[in-house]
Amino acid sequence: MLELIGVSHVYANGTRALDDVSLSIPTGMFGLLGPNGAGKSTLMRTVATLQTPTAGTIRFEDIDVIAQPERLRETLGYLPQDFGVYPRVSAYDMLDHMAVLKGIVSAADRRATVETLLVQTNLWPHRKKAIAGFSGGMRQRFGIAQALIGNPRLIIVDEPTAGLDPEERNRFLNLLAEIGENVVVILSTHIVEDVADLCPRMAVLAAGRIQLQGAPLDLIDRT
Ligand code: ADP
Ligand code: ADP
Repeated sequence: MLELIGVSHVYANGTRALDDVSLSIPTGMFGLLGPNGAGKSTLMRTVATLQTPTAGTIRFEDIDVIAQPERLRETLGYLPQDFGVYPRVSAYDMLDHMAVLKGIVSAADRRATVETLLVQTNLWPHRKKAIAGFSGGMRQRFGIAQALIGNPRLIIVDEPTAGLDPEERNRFLNLLAEIGENVVVILSTHIVEDVADLCPRMAVLAAGRIQLQGAPLDLIDRT
């Protein structure tokens, strides 16, 4: 369970990007829906401990996220909106390298981790290809594979479906839903359909404030 209580963020130029946001996010896939400029990326970066809010409390399991960011990072998988380094190394070698950085030092453990993630994200047939040559859908699935190294219990995915064709989009969202059976997955998006079908819970953010939160069926039918 991830819990935000009274979280606000005011940027140096005075923009109030988050205004008293309180949210309870259980295990499963959670949709954060809102138009451009609503504050979604600010909220995602704040939970990912890349920025500190100007007010409020964030808890994940027994972690006080603002006071103990390093503890959260140990169990966080983050796919930022602008995940955009496409090196000319193969998907396998890149994941293997990232697993080393995550502290998986045993070659046997790394091999098991990398193989499992490549199969789970349907990238096994492409493991020897350079990431630079991947399609948009393949890049996003690779982004999820790297976010899953080390079995994080909190996964944050910021606007991941932009630019995907409908088939890739469905494949990607189904992959997230599968992952969300065991961990907290937060999907930020401005596309209603991304949350309507697959997220048991959702919230609508606009102008930095939570407008609605609950089950998509209840919320989306009413609008
Ligand atoms: P979203 O991800 O929903 O599009 P953002 O979190 O990117 O929303 O932005 C929320 C608001 O904060 C917008 O008004 C945006 O212009 C502003 N903003 C975002 N980043 C900064 C920043 N570094 N400095 C000042 N204002 C910012
Ligand atoms: P694009 O987005 O350019 O249409 P895709 O990402 O859908 O491309 O597919 C890229 C590659 O992934 C293709 O070579 C395709 O054959 C392959 N592919 C499609 N479905 C799967 C799958 N379920 N598992 C592994 N590879 C797949």
